[in-house]
Amino acid sequence: MTTFKDLGLNENIIKALTDLGYENPTEIQEKAIPQVIASKEDLKAFAQTGTGKTAAFSLPILEQIDINSNNTQAIILSPTRELALQIAKNIEDFAKHFKGFRVAAVYGGANIEEQIRKLKKGAHIVVGTPGRTVDLINRRQLKLANIEWLVLDEADEMLNMGFKDELDKILEVTPNTKQTLLFSATFPREVESIAKNYMTKPVEITSGQKNKGSDQVSHQYYVVSERNRYNALKRIADVNPDIYSIIFCRTRRETQEVADKLIKDGYNADALHGDLSQAQRDSVMGKFRKKHLQILVATDVAARGLDVTDLTHVINHKLPDQIESYTHRSGRTGRAGKEGISIAIVTAREKGKLRPIERIIGKQFVSTPVPTGKEICQNQLLKLIDKVHDIEINETEINDFLPSIYEKLEGLDREELIKRFVSLEFNTFLSYYENAPDLNDSDQMRRSSDRDSRGKSRDDENMSRFFINIGRKDKLNPARLIGLINDQDIAKNIEIGQIEILDTFSFFELDKNYTEETISAFQKGDVDFEGRNVNVEKTEKKRSGRGGGGGRRDRGDRKDGGGDRNSRSGGGRSRSKDRKSGGDFSAGFGRKRSDSKSDFGGSKPSRRRKG
Ligand code: AMP
Repeated sequence: MTTFKDLGLNENIIKALTDLGYENPTEIQEKAIPQVIASKEDLKAFAQTGTGKTAAFSLPILEQIDINSNNTQAIILSPTRELALQIAKNIEDFAKHFKGFRVAAVYGGANIEEQIRKLKKGAHIVVGTPGRTVDLINRRQLKLANIEWLVLDEADEMLNMGFKDELDKILEVTPNTKQTLLFSATFPREVESIAKNYMTKPVEITSGQKNKGSDQVSHQYYVVSERNRYNALKRIADVNPDIYSIIFCRTRRETQEVADKLIKDGYNADALHGDLSQAQRDSVMGKFRKKHLQILVATDVAARGLDVTDLTHVINHKLPDQIESYTHRSGRTGRAGKEGISIAIVTAREKGKLRPIERIIGKQFVSTPVPTGKEICQNQLLKLIDKVHDIEINETEINDFLPSIYEKLEGLDREELIKRFVSLEFNTFLSYYENAPDLNDSDQMRRSSDRDSRGKSRDDENMSRFFINIGRKDKLNPARLIGLINDQDIAKNIEIGQIEILDTFSFFELDKNYTEETISAFQKGDVDFEGRNVNVEKTEKKRSGRGGGGGRRDRGDRKDGGGDRNSRSGGGRSRSKDRKSGGDFSAGFGRKRSDSKSDFGGSKPSRRRKG
C-alpha cells in the first residue's frame, strides 16, 4: 500500500498527517501529490467532495513552499466562506510543524480590515472566496504577482454561484508562470471553458469515474402526488429514527417552508439558506455539525462547505434544476467509507428526470415504496426498546422510590408491564399512524386523478376567485398572468384555475387555501405590470363562462417565459390542509424535541445506532 512518504512528502508533513490520523493517501492524493511535486504542468482533477481533495492540492504546495519568503505563493479559491475556512484550517493542521508558516482566509461577510491586517503580516498561502479576493486585489492589499500556484476548488460550484467575472479577473492578475490546479466534481461547459482559456495543456486525473457518485451511496426514489410530497418526507424521517440528513430544496422560500412545517410538526430540524444572516447560518451549521439538529433543510448553495461526514440520508425534496447538482447533493452522504442513501421524492411527472441523472451517476435509482404506518411504528418501537435497553440507571437516586413503585405494580406480570410501559410512550404514535393512507402514487391513481382534473370542475369548491385591475389593454394574456402570479411566489406548485382576461381588468382562480397569502403577496404595493400598479382583491365565486384562459392550469405546465424560476416541476395542489393530514403529528421521533436532542446529540453516540 502506498504511503505518504512514497509520494515525496517530507517528515514534518508526515508527522502532521499522523497526528490527524491520516494513515494512507486516498486515490486523488496518490495521483495528485507526486504529479504536483514533480511537475509544473497544470492539473485538471475530477474529484468529488469527501475524497480528500483538500490534502491532494495542499500537501504538494506545502512541500514546495518557501517559508523564508514573505510573498504569497499560493492562492486557493473556494466557492463559500465555510469551505475557505475549512481549507485554511486543514492547511494549518498540515503545516503545524512548519515554523513561521502563515495561511490567511479571506471571505465576504466579515471585517475586511482584519483580513487586510492578516495579509500585511504576510501569508504564504491565501484561501479566498472569489468576491472578497477581487475586492482585496482592487484595494491593492492582495498581491498575486508572485504566486506559483493557483487552485480552483469546486470550480463548478464557483461558476454555478455566478463567480465567472471574479474568476476571470483573478486569473488575469496572476503570472503566466504559475501552476493552475483545478478541482471539480462535474465538468459542465463553463468549467471546461475556464480550463481551456486559462490552463495550458493540463494533465487530467480522476478519482473514481468522472462525474460519478460515490460507490457508497445508494439511490432511491419515491413517487407521490404533489400534495403528498411533504407527508412522504415526514414518513421517511419517521421510519428512520436515527436519521441525520440534509433535505435539499431548490429555492430559499421552499427551504424555509419545508423547515417551518417540520419544526411545527415537532421535528428536530432547521433551515439553511441565503436569506439568513451569516451569524444565523453559522449557528444553524454549528448545531447541525454537533448533531443537535437531525435534519437540515438547505439550498444547494448554502449547504456547500458544510463538512459533515456521516449523514445517513440526503433527501431531494425536489430534484435540482441542474443535473450536476444531484451529484453534489448525493455526494454529501456516503463519505469517509460510510454508506449513505440519497432519496429523490418525485411526482409521476418528474420521474423522467431520473434517467439523465442515472446516466451521470452510473447507477440506477431503486423505486422504493413510501413507508407504511406499520413499518414506521415497528421501527420507532424497536428504537424505543433500544433506548429502554441502553438507558443508564441511576441506582442511588432511584433506590428510594422503588419499594413504593413495586407495591403499586404488584400483580402485573412481566408481559403486562412491558405492554403498559411501551404503550405509555407509544400510544400517540400508534394512533397517529392508525389508518394512515397509502401515499404511493400508483399509475392507476394518477390516471384517475388526471381524468378528474380534465373533467368538470372537480375542484371548483377548492378555488378562490380574484379580481385583478389589469387586462388586455395592458397586454395581459393568460400566460403573462400566470407568470405574474408565479413571480409572487405565493406557494410552491399552487394550482391556478380558470382565468378570464377582459379589457381593463381580469379574474383568476387559485387554490383557496392560499387566499390570504395571495392577497398579501399582491398587497405589498410593489407589484407592477407594464407600468401599472397591480391590485388584487378576492371576489365572488361566479364565472362569466367566457374566459380567455379557460380550463385548469397548472404552474408546471407553463411554457411561457413568465419568469418563475422556482416551479418548473410538478403539478397538482399543495393544500395546507394536506400538510396536516392525519392530524397534527407530534409523536415518536419528533415528539419531544428536547428528548430527541439529548438522545441524538448526547454524549453516548453508541446508543444512537444499532449494529
Ligand atoms: P476533503 O475531500 O478534502 O473534504 O476530505 C474529506 C474528509 O476526509 C476530511 O474529513 C478529511 O480530513 C478526511 N481525509 C482526507 N484525506 C484523508 C486520508 N488520507 N486519510 C484519512 N482521512 C482523510
